[in-house]
Amino acid sequence: MKFDWLIIGAGYSACVLAERIATQMEQRVLIVEKRSHIGGNAYDYYNEHGHLVHKYGPHIFHTKSKPVWRYLSQFTDWRPYYHHVLAVVEGKKVPLPFNLNTLYALFPPRYAEKLEALLLENFGFGKKVPILQLKERQQTDLAFLADYIYDNVFLRYTQKQWDLKPEELDSGVTARVPIYISRDNRYFQDPYQAMPKHGYTAMFQRMIAHPLIKVLLNTNYKEIIDTVSFDRAVCTGPIDEFFDFSHGEMPYRSIDFRFETLNQESFQEVGTVNYPNDYDITRITEQKYLTGQVSPKTTIIREFPQAYIPGRNDPYYPIPKAENRDRLSLYLKEAKKLNGSVLFAGRLGDYKYYNMDQAVTRALGVFEKEIARQPLLI
Ligand code: UDP
Repeated sequence: MKFDWLIIGAGYSACVLAERIATQMEQRVLIVEKRSHIGGNAYDYYNEHGHLVHKYGPHIFHTKSKPVWRYLSQFTDWRPYYHHVLAVVEGKKVPLPFNLNTLYALFPPRYAEKLEALLLENFGFGKKVPILQLKERQQTDLAFLADYIYDNVFLRYTQKQWDLKPEELDSGVTARVPIYISRDNRYFQDPYQAMPKHGYTAMFQRMIAHPLIKVLLNTNYKEIIDTVSFDRAVCTGPIDEFFDFSHGEMPYRSIDFRFETLNQESFQEVGTVNYPNDYDITRITEQKYLTGQVSPKTTIIREFPQAYIPGRNDPYYPIPKAENRDRLSLYLKEAKKLNGSVLFAGRLGDYKYYNMDQAVTRALGVFEKEIARQPLLI
């Protein structure tokens, strides 16, 4: 069979592009996915206890983007969900992002008041201050606070997660969890925060249920690329692998997600508890908070970050730092030489630390600018 498009991968970017190409251009798409399922790392399934679980770690949907929200809402209903995270610091579970409530949870009231006043005076209520920015402050108490947060919340978590210190990564990484001068204990403040009512996999199934879209699972695209006929391709897999590592390997981080179902109704106080300082894990997520399921048992996920070893585990996180961007630019030059016959998108295709909504924005942008070449009306 002849296809107009070959799409490598079946995650967010791939499903969005397949859906757009099939429904808006009426062209034929073949999705080729090496795993046994669609949905990429957002894939979820019901385990043997009937609990909906996220196979590749907790995925909590949040976005500021109305177009992304409206786009995905075509394929799913939503369950409103505000994610809360506690971090274990000096044996106490305190709100994260570090906010004014965290100050009072960790310091004696008089000192917390002093620090609160200083934060308000220096930055203002409602401001979000990245830890590496707070560390630049000279004022004695602010400098103490910055060192305290850096040492107790960021340093060891980041070493576990990335095998790097916070300052060895692009500043945007730790800025994802800023010091928030507020009493809002939610992990995100985006206007749209919700979970797909029947799970992510169900949402992706609806997205690509179209007679012009075919899906080939359990297949490495390199094994079939010479045998299928297609006009153009989108690669949402690792860009370095696409070019046979001609400029060397791009590094990624991986995670070992270990699931446990406990014979108790509840395990912890909130969706996720972070362990910046203790154990080899970074965090534990209790699935039922995310899904809203009611059950006498509960399933938790422990995350053990690890090096990515090709063939042994999966590449989950591109590593945002200068030298990796330099290597990426060599691959982007190769991509340009293909003159649009192969497009790249997604966390692995673009080598960018996208959130789910950013992956959707990027895929819609690729469709609009490089495929349909006309503005999209959603
Ligand atoms: N981070 C940290 N301590 C924490 C939470 C986050 O040091 O308790 C840092 C760490 O470097 C992490 C980054 O902030 O990789 C971004 O955290 P986020 O929760 O956004 O990570 P994700 O959910 O994408 O893994």
